[in-house]
Amino acid sequence: MSEETIFSKIIRQEIPTPLLYQDDLVTAFRDISPRVDSHILIIPNKLIPTVNDVEEEDELALGRMITVAKKLAKEEGIDENGYRLIMNCNQHGGQEVYHIHMHLLGGQPLGPLLSV
Ligand code: AMP
Repeated sequence: MSEETIFSKIIRQEIPTPLLYQDDLVTAFRDISPRVDSHILIIPNKLIPTVNDVEEEDELALGRMITVAKKLAKEEGIDENGYRLIMNCNQHGGQEVYHIHMHLLGGQPLGPLLSV
């Protein structure tokens, strides 16, 4: 049994984070510490700690995360100029919250892919 993170409480609205989107598979909300003008997190409702823990049965939720990213990018008005989707995995990937999440980043030029 994986340990719940704060994201499970957000999904269940046990802490009052405004949701940008929620359905039976995924939930989206603004990052509490935005690194760029538009910084949204899209997560599966199921607790999957890391990308290493993804299973075939999760493919529908993972695909939904991308279609929701596309929808939210349009709503944010950043779809035409463009944006970046990122999923961090484990320590070298810079993962802080062990409930997988996709960062939707945009609203300004993002520069090169990596700073190491
Ligand atoms: P990562 O480094 O990929 O694990 O990203 C975790 C992200 O979750 C960071 O960008 C945090 O700012 C964000 N975060 C942590 N706690 C919250 C919260 N309560 N509400 C919204 N975003 C959060």
